[in-house]
Amino acid sequence: MRSGSAPAWAVELALRVCADAGVAPPDALRWRRADRDLSTGLTRRHAGSIAVTTGWDTDDARHTLLHELAHWLTAQAPRRRGWRRQAVHHGREFYATAFELLARYAPDPVAALRREAVRYPNALRHARALALPGTEALVLERLVARRASRRPRAAWRVVVPEHAIRLVRDGRWYVCSTCGRRLVGRALLRAAQRGSRDRHTLWTREPIEATA
Ligand SMILES: [Zn+2]
Ligand SMILES: [Zn+2]
Repeated sequence: MRSGSAPAWAVELALRVCADAGVAPPDALRWRRADRDLSTGLTRRHAGSIAVTTGWDTDDARHTLLHELAHWLTAQAPRRRGWRRQAVHHGREFYATAFELLARYAPDPVAALRREAVRYPNALRHARALALPGTEALVLERLVARRASRRPRAAWRVVVPEHAIRLVRDGRWYVCSTCGRRLVGRALLRAAQRGSRDRHTLWTREPIEATA
């Protein structure tokens, strides 16, 4: 394997992974550095090469190399006979191999899965299907993060304290004359039946002021 300017750890890792899998290593491991944080990679089966362009984050460089090695191993795996389909680039077959590599060679497999999911959200779906440990916590983590980013943080505040509902007509609608809230559906039915014994409180949801 020609490895040019690839660091020793990368050469060692590539050779070890291929040897453990009983697969010939690529002819060339190309290594470049770029002035950014994250790495990118490209595996070319027919050219027999893996190319990695690394950023400053060395954990990410290692992760990217393992991701590309998973492509390499997937491409070398014998095709099942009579199974003439194109393997999906980041499909189940790929991830079965990739997760195996991450479990074996990544310092923290759950952190590695998180890293993978940032780039390829589909990774979590495959991890789930393959019952990978730590997946459920990561799915939840992403859900919470997505909700938090979508909706500004807010708090509930009482606008009008609890009071008896006083139904009045307002055009097509019935509203409470004390707080102005419109009553529809079941709430309207209940208020109509129970009269002034029905009480409610008017709340509002306000964004929490950002603290400096
Ligand atoms: Zn890939
Ligand atoms: Zn009211």
